[in-house]
Amino acid sequence: DPQLNSNYTFENYIEGDCNRLARSAGYAVAAKPGGTSFNPLMIYGGVGLGKTHLAQAIGNEIKRNMPDKLVIYVSCEKFCQQFVDSLKNNTINDFVNFYQAMDVIIMDDVHNFAGKEKTQDIFFHIFNHLHQSGKQVILSSDKAPKDLAGLEERLLSRFKWGLSADLQIPDLETRIAILRKKMYADGIELPNEVVEYVAHNIDNNVRELEGAMVSLLAQSTLNKKDIDLNLAKQMLKNFIKNTSKEISMEYIQKLVCEYFEVPVDMVKSPTRKREIVQARQISMYLSKSHTKSSLKTIGAFFGGRDHSTVIYACQTVEDLIDTDKKFKGYVHDIQKKLKMN
Ligand code: ADP
Ligand code: MG
Repeated sequence: DPQLNSNYTFENYIEGDCNRLARSAGYAVAAKPGGTSFNPLMIYGGVGLGKTHLAQAIGNEIKRNMPDKLVIYVSCEKFCQQFVDSLKNNTINDFVNFYQAMDVIIMDDVHNFAGKEKTQDIFFHIFNHLHQSGKQVILSSDKAPKDLAGLEERLLSRFKWGLSADLQIPDLETRIAILRKKMYADGIELPNEVVEYVAHNIDNNVRELEGAMVSLLAQSTLNKKDIDLNLAKQMLKNFIKNTSKEISMEYIQKLVCEYFEVPVDMVKSPTRKREIVQARQISMYLSKSHTKSSLKTIGAFFGGRDHSTVIYACQTVEDLIDTDKKFKGYVHDIQKKLKMN
């Protein structure tokens, strides 16, 4: 089946909360095409979240276990084009017969039916024929059936018969797993901090996530260069729109307090307890180096202190960085976390 791409499998489709239902429904359908109540199976979700991959994986899995099954994968767009061509060439019967002979039809991106009434009519008939014969229909769409505009009601109602399962944006852990999978597939390993940086910053689309990784891997191979965090940041400027996401004093305060396990409000209080003073001074120091706030604003933010207190804090931190290795490590750790965001 030239329409099925063997690179899209269940094995390389990372599971996460974002896709658990859709993935397991897909797996069930692949094991028993036409034999579950998930007919049609509708996979829906935004661009680049893995609809095509999952739909193709189902097709490939069926072919692997049941090579005799006739499986067709077709994008809705291509189907519409074929229909128009068959009208022109007077081959409409061949067109319909071809699809009605299938055991499994996978139609990708059915939102593209919008406005195409004649093609929807034809598909309605093909759908009914297949469904009545116990054949499996798998659909993908960018929206839930109830939100699909421009589709005929009778077709939509069919789409709602089986199971609709959505794909969501993967959480951080899943994004990291997807990146690792990609690296291992290419036999290259990038440092953890690079992987985490990419996963942290590309959080809306798996295709872009992969694209970023592909370009890092390519650069690393072509230039035979090890990729560290700085180089990765340089290379990914085009992928990561807001690399310089504003760092706020609130955020610095939160990070520092989390790091030293002190209550967030305490750094603003008058207390002179050693650990609080240290957290406060580091927060001031980082606010000076990582935000555009003036000394006056920084002082005011951290408990209504004046600018000379901020100068003193910065001086103290700089001195300690020079003389106290452990302290220097703390500050670097926190700075690393700051830059992750
Ligand atoms: P969509 O069809 O929803 O626009 P795709 O199926 O084309 O998205 O997925 C975009 C890219 O992301 C593909 O290369 C796909 O392999 C990859 N991808 C998406 N989800 C996953 C996942 N859960 N595990 C591994 N790769 C994924
Ligand atoms: Mg797709």
